[in-house]
Amino acid sequence: MTQPHILIAGGGIGGLALALSLHQLGVRCTVYEQVRALKPLGVGINIQPNAVRELFDLGLTPAQLDKIGVPAREWALVGQKGQEIYAEPRGTDAGYRWPQYAAHRGQLHMLLYQTLVDRAGPEAVQLGAKISGYSILPEGGVTATINHTDGSHSIVEGTLLIGADGIHSAVRAQMHPHQPPIHWGGALMWRGTSRAKPVRTGSSFVGLGDHRQRMVIYPISAPDADGFATINWIAEVTLDETEARKSGWYKPAQLSDFAHHFDGWTYDWLDVPALLRGASEIYENPMIDRDPV
Ligand SMILES: Cc1cc2nc3c(=O)[nH]c(=O)nc-3n(C[C@H](O)[C@H](O)[C@H](O)COP(=O)(O)OP(=O)(O)OC[C@H]3O[C@@H](n4cnc5c(N)ncnc54)[C@H](O)[C@@H]3O)c2cc1C
Repeated sequence: MTQPHILIAGGGIGGLALALSLHQLGVRCTVYEQVRALKPLGVGINIQPNAVRELFDLGLTPAQLDKIGVPAREWALVGQKGQEIYAEPRGTDAGYRWPQYAAHRGQLHMLLYQTLVDRAGPEAVQLGAKISGYSILPEGGVTATINHTDGSHSIVEGTLLIGADGIHSAVRAQMHPHQPPIHWGGALMWRGTSRAKPVRTGSSFVGLGDHRQRMVIYPISAPDADGFATINWIAEVTLDETEARKSGWYKPAQLSDFAHHFDGWTYDWLDVPALLRGASEIYENPMIDRDPV
């Protein structure tokens, strides 16, 4: 019997983590990723203890995660006047056996990519290779059609094809052709990072504001010798679909687009306007969603 070969559509966090798991099990797999070069895109992401356990089981170490993030210690909800509403510990402070990490999404992505290439070889991730469709073979197995960035096409055969190709998944669209389109998630977000001193525990995820406008703020690095860390923030306003402007995923944005929503959000423990002004880059993201199949 020939060895199984798993085809994975998409080299995001999901596709690369899956490939690392298959490699660990000794199952051959190839990731097909549409972009020509993976780049460390994104800002903060929280990796919950159950996911950190998986990363540790894959052989990633706390020292590696400490380079891309920081263990989260607290989750706190704060009202617009700066008053605490609710707070609870997170990660090992909450009794889990594994920490929760607040990390840089792009650096986590690069860590998974580099680890896979180191272990399985560069041929395990085919870049500039977009899966446009598949056929299930009558005798078992599957073929996938790959569109390469040079304009050529190829067909690959595998035991299984796993769609890890994100919210606009081509695999899912073929598998579930009658799914409804992506829908508006109710909010427009501006995301960025600034160098600032962490608040509260020093590693708190703070949700600040109300249902109309709110901030999410948390550090994604340990503080430097002067006490400054990279602080991830999301500034978010609720908009219904008719109010929502045409917005692209990861559109660069200006402070003047949104900072006025947070004028006066200054407390003795946090200065939101100053945090926003300290941003190196800002991106506008619409909150969009898809119904489960
Ligand atoms: C650019 C980017 C930035 C993000 N930033 C943040 C952030 O800052 N904070 C946060 O919490 N979450 C962020 N996310 C979302 C978060 O990373 C993902 O929702 C989550 O990790 C799920 O990952 P995934 O692997 O399922 O999908 P994704 O991360 O969306 O990855 C899907 C991958 O598949 C590739 N792909 C798509 N279609 C095809 C195809 N037909 N053939 C081959 N390849 C294909 C895409 O290029 C992409 O690399 C970001 C996602 C992206 C894509």
